[in-house]
Amino acid sequence: MRTGAGRLLRLFATTTTMASSSVSAWRETASATAWNTQPAVRFTSPKAAEVIVQPMFTDNFAYIVIDKETGDAAVVDPGDPLPVIETIKRMDIQLKQLWTTHKHGDHVGGNEAFVSAFPGLQVFGTKYEAVPCLTHGVGEGDEFKLGSSEVKVMHVPCHTTGHVAFVMSTTEGSTLLFAGDTLFVGGCGRFFEGTGAQMLTNMQRLKSLPLDTFVFPAHEYTEGNYKFLASVDADRCGAKYEQIKMMRSQGLFTVPSTIEQELQTNLFMLTDTSEVQALMQCDGNAEATMNTLREQKNNSR
Ligand SMILES: [Zn+2]
Repeated sequence: MRTGAGRLLRLFATTTTMASSSVSAWRETASATAWNTQPAVRFTSPKAAEVIVQPMFTDNFAYIVIDKETGDAAVVDPGDPLPVIETIKRMDIQLKQLWTTHKHGDHVGGNEAFVSAFPGLQVFGTKYEAVPCLTHGVGEGDEFKLGSSEVKVMHVPCHTTGHVAFVMSTTEGSTLLFAGDTLFVGGCGRFFEGTGAQMLTNMQRLKSLPLDTFVFPAHEYTEGNYKFLASVDADRCGAKYEQIKMMRSQGLFTVPSTIEQELQTNLFMLTDTSEVQALMQCDGNAEATMNTLREQKNNSR
């Protein structure tokens, strides 16, 4: 539906009302029908980072992250290259790097097209899996720079055995987590190649990031995640589900979240608490709680 300036203003007003005070996000235009024809959204952290949120396929996000001090940019998991390349060219972004979290086609499917479109592009990605066009294989503890920002690599095996997450820190103190299919807003990735014990470890490690870390997951799964969480724990998650339903009905993306927000209502991050263990009838056992919660989510509609 394209309804012009009135709709744009309403979206802007809604976005600024819904978002936390440290977040400013806005739509560039207000046209939106199918997911992958929605326009990219610009997110600006107060401390020297900017992220363009680009919808792809039916519910994927690619991200274009810009180090504001230098203008150098990286694109994260651009599985469908055409809309992402179009955005980068239209905004005249200095693309220097591509980051790949894991081997699945909806994450690596654009690598060849990007290397062709941007000669000299550095392709950082998990060294534990076959990633097309990789120039810089990275794994646990590796660090590199995007402009003046530091990027750290975390190995978070479970969804796939070689999955990595990228943690970027700007010189002014913003932290941004590109979590791929490991942490979602209100959820975690499916255990395709790993165990509940591994996902538990991943969640524990992600919890230790600064609370104001912005979380950028690779899919807009939030509404389905909170529908499930509200069915499990209405007291804790019911209001959040209503808030998310409202955002989605207005065509708003629910990213980014923050680690602090996830610690409030994402039960997958709270399987080490007695409350969530009791809900899953797995008292004293965080690993069994994680497995049971994931299994219930897999079977939920
Ligand atoms: Zn995946």
